[in-house]
Amino acid sequence: MSEPIKPLAADFIRTIITDDLASGKHDQIVTRFPPEPNGYLHIGHAKSICLNFGIAGEFTPARCHLRFDDTNPSKEETEYVEAIKEDVRWLGFDWGEHLYFASDYFEQIYEYAEHLIKNGLAYVCDLSAEEIRASRGTLTEPGRNSPYRERPSSESIDLFRRMRAGEFPDGARVLRARIDMASGNLNLRDPVLYRIMHRGHHRTGAQWCIYPMYDFTHPISDALEGVTHSLCTLEFADHRPLYDWIIVNLPLPCQPRQIEFARLNLGYTVVSKRKLLQLVNEGYVGGWDDPRMPTLSGIRRRGYPPAAIRSFCDRIGVAKKESLVDVSLLEHYVREELNESAVRVMGVLKPLKVVITNYPAGRSEELTAQNHPQKPEMGSRLLPFAREIYIERDDFMEEPPKKFFRLAPGREVRLRYAYFIKCDEVIKDATGEISELRCSYDPATLGGNAPDGRKVKGTIHWVAADRALKAEVRLYDRLFTEENPEKAAAGGGDFKDFVNPHSLVILPDCRLEPSLAAARPGQHFQFERQGYFCLDGQDSRPEGPVFNRSATLRDTWAKLR
Ligand code: ATP
Ligand code: MG
Repeated sequence: MSEPIKPLAADFIRTIITDDLASGKHDQIVTRFPPEPNGYLHIGHAKSICLNFGIAGEFTPARCHLRFDDTNPSKEETEYVEAIKEDVRWLGFDWGEHLYFASDYFEQIYEYAEHLIKNGLAYVCDLSAEEIRASRGTLTEPGRNSPYRERPSSESIDLFRRMRAGEFPDGARVLRARIDMASGNLNLRDPVLYRIMHRGHHRTGAQWCIYPMYDFTHPISDALEGVTHSLCTLEFADHRPLYDWIIVNLPLPCQPRQIEFARLNLGYTVVSKRKLLQLVNEGYVGGWDDPRMPTLSGIRRRGYPPAAIRSFCDRIGVAKKESLVDVSLLEHYVREELNESAVRVMGVLKPLKVVITNYPAGRSEELTAQNHPQKPEMGSRLLPFAREIYIERDDFMEEPPKKFFRLAPGREVRLRYAYFIKCDEVIKDATGEISELRCSYDPATLGGNAPDGRKVKGTIHWVAADRALKAEVRLYDRLFTEENPEKAAAGGGDFKDFVNPHSLVILPDCRLEPSLAAARPGQHFQFERQGYFCLDGQDSRPEGPVFNRSATLRDTWAKLR
């Protein structure tokens, strides 16, 4: 990534907030992040989290609430609530005492509904969902009034109370706002405010059999919490007139303002809970936290540091226009962060055994290696060296092309932090596969230089054979082969047809330096010359650790495009 990083100008939302403070409209800013607990958070949500919590951090004394929009009992689960909290915390944000659930407001929302009925602004409608849809009209034609629209409010109140009491089956009746069936905005054509659902709720249990719709719940929840700026994605722009209608027509404690911004779309992945769920349910990935997933749990398991996600969100900023963000930008911040913080270690992914014939059998020594050559403050560690070591299979070629500067018959290379070795003999098995190299070392080259001044062109990594940690390493690539799988599938295809079959490559028999036996999930390592890796917290066993590749050292896709 060579693209220069532009400094951030204040975006249009921060400009509005600054003006609202300057004019005295507000003296304290309150925002909220309102996930629906029906799936795991993804990188798109991270944009919203960074925006809402970011603003709270910038405009002191401001605050940001975490509010679960749990109005649909059929799809929501406590498991998701806990996972979402963990993800928000992991991203580095804190809601303090301000954790809320829309379901905590069910009683108040119900009372506001009665208020609308009593003021002639809502009515119980006996049409079926099908009939309501059919009478809604289109963008060019007005809708038709429901035959129940003029029903006296006393009758609606009675029916609404009986709906609550459980007298009617699912779908028998709904409560609708009484606005305008001829409105140019379909959302204002007497939208449904409440529906009957005889279904237990993850928090309110069997207490309710009618549930408020999202569009009714959201402005009320915002107002009850004193939210000043209700930030949401562009698809809600058409709902804003309804949001405002509710705010104006109810005796609410304050009048929040809804502002929309463009959602994040990211290349080579999908950011829609519904689509991610299909990938999980249909076995394209191992789960919501599969390291290839754009979920925050997947990204965390992959080894992306939260600071990289925050920098990425800062950099993309917020705007009114939808776009597809280049995934290389996210990977750029991941590499930048990991380059700073990852401890350098040695890991051989495709091992080839090397016997150093002039190194005494039974002897071993401990050599000093830097944890981060550019950062001496990160210290050093000891690496065992012995007669038998492993090197990377790709670092040897029997018939090397011109520019190959690594090991070859008769050639000498430097072993990182150790000695020069020279390849004297190539041993092959019955099938003709190279099974071992016989080399000799020069004891005078410890430290990386020869006293006689002779040079070697290559330095390779290695691990001592008998002390090496055996591990599985998983290499990940982009989940899709198309930058925009949804677009590629438009016109009859399926976005899942574009899942990258090589997005996971498992290397079962890697050999890592012994210090990695102490690795913990969440620690970042650079396997020198290979990339950034972390321990997989899910599948690792003491006898069989698994490491995930978080990122390659360089953008390997840039040169392919
Ligand atoms: P999905 O489209 O994946 O189902 P959603 O919008 O239904 O997501 P919610 O739980 O309702 O998911 O979203 C919580 C908040 O996150 C909302 O304010 C929503 O606008 C915001 N959000 C969701 N997806 C994105 C995205 N791609 N970019 C920015 N913000 C997003
Ligand atoms: Mg939603």
